[in-house]
Amino acid sequence: MLLFVAALVVLSMPGCTLFVAGQKVPDHVLEANTDDFRVADDVAALHYYGVGGWGVKWRGEYLLMAPYFSNHGFLGMFGRNGPDLEAVKQGVRNTPFGDAGLILVGHGHVDHAADIPAYPMAGLPANQAGVIANKTTLNMLASLMPPNKSFRCAETPSASGQAIDNCSLAGFRITPLASHHAPNVKLLGMGFTIARGTVDEPLPEIPSRPSAYRMGDTWAYLIDLLDENGEIVFRIHYMDAVAGSDESSIPPALLAQRKVDIHIACVPGFAYVDNYPEWELQQGKTGYVLLGHWEDFFQSRDKRLKPVTWVLNENKLNTFTRRIENALSPDAVQIAPLNKSPVDCPVDGERCGPRGKSWALPVPGETYQFGVRAGL
Ligand SMILES: [Zn+2]
Repeated sequence: MLLFVAALVVLSMPGCTLFVAGQKVPDHVLEANTDDFRVADDVAALHYYGVGGWGVKWRGEYLLMAPYFSNHGFLGMFGRNGPDLEAVKQGVRNTPFGDAGLILVGHGHVDHAADIPAYPMAGLPANQAGVIANKTTLNMLASLMPPNKSFRCAETPSASGQAIDNCSLAGFRITPLASHHAPNVKLLGMGFTIARGTVDEPLPEIPSRPSAYRMGDTWAYLIDLLDENGEIVFRIHYMDAVAGSDESSIPPALLAQRKVDIHIACVPGFAYVDNYPEWELQQGKTGYVLLGHWEDFFQSRDKRLKPVTWVLNENKLNTFTRRIENALSPDAVQIAPLNKSPVDCPVDGERCGPRGKSWALPVPGETYQFGVRAGL
């Protein structure tokens, strides 16, 4: 046990400057910029909060993919630790967090679900936002869900490929897709997934220990942005866990409606499954990839940024970007952020992460604007 703890301490020590595709990654999380969210009706703003957390501003509405800021740490996982309210307030500052009308959760692990109880105290008005999550997550957070009125509605996906009807927003169509969760770590060829299992009955209180947040089923989501006529003008494919080509797919009938503009990737663990990200990019004829969930969330957010301990490193991040470039379909969507230079980050390097022609490694706090268009 002592050796194990010593290894964790060593592996958690700050590393050197990180370079991806030859571009320097900023040392620290960025302060969000309120101006980045002031967009026209034909532009979507995508904000990276860090880990699996994203925000999508579209036609005056705001969608959250549940952000996590408390970063409880390895040992903190096992103690009695609730959300760090100050960290949540700091993490959402200068973003339209208080306008959020819907929260999506892909699975119930601590880094996706454990800060949700703090959202109403961090500026999200009670009973304003709905929550779409697996049954396990809704059971763990049952004391906050309707009829207790911390949140407007709560819904768990009932079928893969079937849009959510009752708990959505006017400008969004949310379609859950049955997916999978790769092992959190592999040692000596054996995969280990933390906190597997389900919570089958509503809990009277939220879990007091971060390690008690159970995974439940894993869902990916198609997030379609709709124009005033209900036509799809932008499509995001969001994954907050890694799945192989035989574990996750988009139904052909949905792909016939539109290609995927943006794939929000989960990077850690890509080497543990077959054909990720290639399969997802090829089936969706995806145009652009935002590399999510890459930074170490076992350390406080004021520490120097580094890849998730054990699972990811600079070499693997570079490998992932090369695999994206090699996987892009010749008839993929042609798209790039409107508010960034065409290829790489300007020399100042402090307000953006590395980028290639068809991908970006976002820094927590960074916002991307994309133009939307019908008919893809
Ligand atoms: Zn997980």
